[in-house]
Amino acid sequence: MDKKFSRRAIVKGGLMAGAMIPALGLMTEAARAADLTPLDPNDPVAKSLGFVNDSSKVDAAANPTHNATQKCGTCAQFGGKPGDARGPCNVFVGHTVPMGGWCKVWAKKPGT
Ligand code: SF4
Repeated sequence: MDKKFSRRAIVKGGLMAGAMIPALGLMTEAARAADLTPLDPNDPVAKSLGFVNDSSKVDAAANPTHNATQKCGTCAQFGGKPGDARGPCNVFVGHTVPMGGWCKVWAKKPGT
């Protein structure tokens, strides 16, 4: 087996492989996002952390340090991109949370 490859074939193969890598990454990311389910506020862990889908509905008496700027979209644990309605959360693995949600773990995302 003494097969020779032309320089053109090697360059062409390298370009095709290089083009496939980002496409595979997008497919993996899309598949991962499809596996996530919206976090149910009645989930026992969500309840224990005071999670709500709407930050404006937080019980102020029970959470005196909460303010209107605290939302999942400004939280360091939020994995969504700017403009996303929902995104993954590092605390609630396997679920998405809404940009406007909130829980007691909220911590300011740097740069927000
Ligand atoms: S940890 Fe942050 S992103 Fe996750 S639910 Fe709580 S406030 Fe939202």
